[in-house]
Amino acid sequence: MDVQYEVPPQQVDKEFHYNFPTEIERSLTSVFAPRNILIVGAGIAGISCALALSKELTPFVPDLQITLFERHDVLSTSGGAINLTPVAQRHLDRLGVLEELDKMGSEGGTDVDAIEMFSARTGRPLGNIDFTDANGNGFGGYKGRRVMRIILSVAMLTVVERTKNIKMVYGKKLVRGEENEDQATLHFQDGTTATGDLVLGCDGVHSATRTHWVSPDCPSEYTGISFVQTVIDTNSIKSPIHFRSTSMNISRHGSLLASFCDREHEQIFLAAIVQFNEAHLPYCRIENGQDFVTQHRIKNLLHDQMQSRFGRSGIPCIREMATKSGDWMLYPVYQVRPGARWHTDRALLLGDAAHAMPPRDESAAYALDDSILFSRILAKHRHEPLPVAFKAYEDLRRNTVTTAFKASRRMWEKNRDLGFLEGRLKEWTLPFYIRNSKEQREAAWEFDATKITIPAPVEDSSMYSFGKSDCS
Ligand SMILES: Cc1cc2nc3c(=O)[nH]c(=O)nc-3n(C[C@H](O)[C@H](O)[C@H](O)COP(=O)(O)OP(=O)(O)OC[C@H]3O[C@@H](n4cnc5c(N)ncnc54)[C@H](O)[C@@H]3O)c2cc1C
Repeated sequence: MDVQYEVPPQQVDKEFHYNFPTEIERSLTSVFAPRNILIVGAGIAGISCALALSKELTPFVPDLQITLFERHDVLSTSGGAINLTPVAQRHLDRLGVLEELDKMGSEGGTDVDAIEMFSARTGRPLGNIDFTDANGNGFGGYKGRRVMRIILSVAMLTVVERTKNIKMVYGKKLVRGEENEDQATLHFQDGTTATGDLVLGCDGVHSATRTHWVSPDCPSEYTGISFVQTVIDTNSIKSPIHFRSTSMNISRHGSLLASFCDREHEQIFLAAIVQFNEAHLPYCRIENGQDFVTQHRIKNLLHDQMQSRFGRSGIPCIREMATKSGDWMLYPVYQVRPGARWHTDRALLLGDAAHAMPPRDESAAYALDDSILFSRILAKHRHEPLPVAFKAYEDLRRNTVTTAFKASRRMWEKNRDLGFLEGRLKEWTLPFYIRNSKEQREAAWEFDATKITIPAPVEDSSMYSFGKSDCS
């Protein structure tokens, strides 16, 4: 077995592997290294963080215990399908999740070589967001993948189940948290509490960890855009399918994503990305406990929306898809403006809880990057108090995330309803935008959070660079 801790730090950072400590190191880490870690939320950030922490810290903290608290009683089946970029796939592979997805056969998702962009009006191809290089190879060996969210969750939980120091507790909705010098306490809606050394708030865009504890002045806000989603059987569509695996069909009334979501291409995930008035949201969301009449009214309303926005498309299968399904669901998209405070002395926000941005198919990768980077930093800073690791993490991460937020925002604006001329302009300029941003996009897919060098711990008195939130 390699004794990795003897390798100089720069070389250790190049690999994502266990560092096997000596007995002396073990006793040294006992002072500050957290033993009892509480994670709020079992989404992509929460589960990946639990797995990455177990991998990175277990060699130094043999009695490590990580507990995931999820508000739902069972896995949520809502949310449709998600696109995983090459970066996300690489991380999931290293965490053992991709192997589980692959074992699931067709349901484990479909390879995505490219998102093909089309004018919904004329059917004209506008360019591709490629997940392969000129030779058809994935970036670092990984292409894109579209998979149902529930299937991804099942694969992640399978890995959690076989990781002996991670425990999953369902039906625990965080309502508030508090901390003192020695520990942090979570308070759940059912009146119970949990106490630990370190809390990771991975509870998504509406995070209670953020709004009731770490950064109360940074609420989530509606972006003005919603997804209207459904899944249909491929063989219910009679017109020829115009895309290989995933298409984005652009119009001046929003964009319609149509993508296979299983390996056998038996199902198509449809998601219209459209402007939707905030005042109308409460009347358009299907909720548990609603009566049949209300649900029927909402479904008809969304069906009419789809028909009026995409029912006259120049692409026959898009026309058919838009008018066919009666099962559309509305998902309003929220964001958290850059500037939220990310940590206190014992709690840190990760994933959407810290920086939810309008999705452009990359946000899951950001949540995974967060988890892996933080776990590596915590392992490296295990001899220091937690805020030192928090600050090192924030120093490495804050600018990247703020830049990504701004880029997402700019892209997102293109989904607003446009006038006739603006709509044409969007169609004409999109191919240039896709070509011009290709290099930047592909560089991002080469990014590897397991390889970037983590600065060595330094004495620093200004640990709270973001002591105050600024979400304006
Ligand atoms: C409509 C839509 C489509 C998207 N499509 C894509 C895509 O194709 N590709 C992509 O990369 N990204 C996409 N994203 C973004 C992506 O889904 C998120 O960035 C990602 O899920 C963030 O993971 P997370 O774990 O931080 O948050 P979440 O996935 O939201 O997980 C948070 C978890 O915390 C739990 N929780 C919440 N509150 C509490 C509480 N108080 N107590 C306990 N538990 C709690 C929730 O139940 C959930 O399990 C999309 C987002 C939206 C809204």
